[in-house]
Amino acid sequence: MDAARFRDPQIRLRDLADEPILVVCPRCSRRATVIPGRLTCAGCALVRVRPRADHSVWNGPIDPFFREPLWLRADCCGGHTLWAFHARHLDLVERFVAAKLRERGLGDDPGLTLVARLPAWMTAAKHRDEVLRTIAELRATLS
Ligand SMILES: [Zn+2]
Repeated sequence: MDAARFRDPQIRLRDLADEPILVVCPRCSRRATVIPGRLTCAGCALVRVRPRADHSVWNGPIDPFFREPLWLRADCCGGHTLWAFHARHLDLVERFVAAKLRERGLGDDPGLTLVARLPAWMTAAKHRDEVLRTIAELRATLS
């Protein structure tokens, strides 16, 4: 695939929330996982259940079920917070920011896709290097 070109894959944030979301464990501060309605931590065996997502907290650096801080979040570009639910989300943002040519989606409602909703500071050319560096630092915390 041509890395310089990015075509919006039409993925929405809610689609990404169907995969395990990485959060900071509220008990031991290690990496825990949220699947819809359930938080589990391998580090301390914590299990919490909450069946409904909180729709008021979508598009922020906390998980939509338990409101726990995301594992993948970092200060970036002077007071902003870069965040992702999991590695796939991070990869998607990275490919978009790194691409020189970004193509808008042509779906029914392209304005609602994840990459269409990225904040302007994150997609600004002057922030590209810092955003990509921060993404690389976050990815390093996953290994
Ligand atoms: Zn824990």
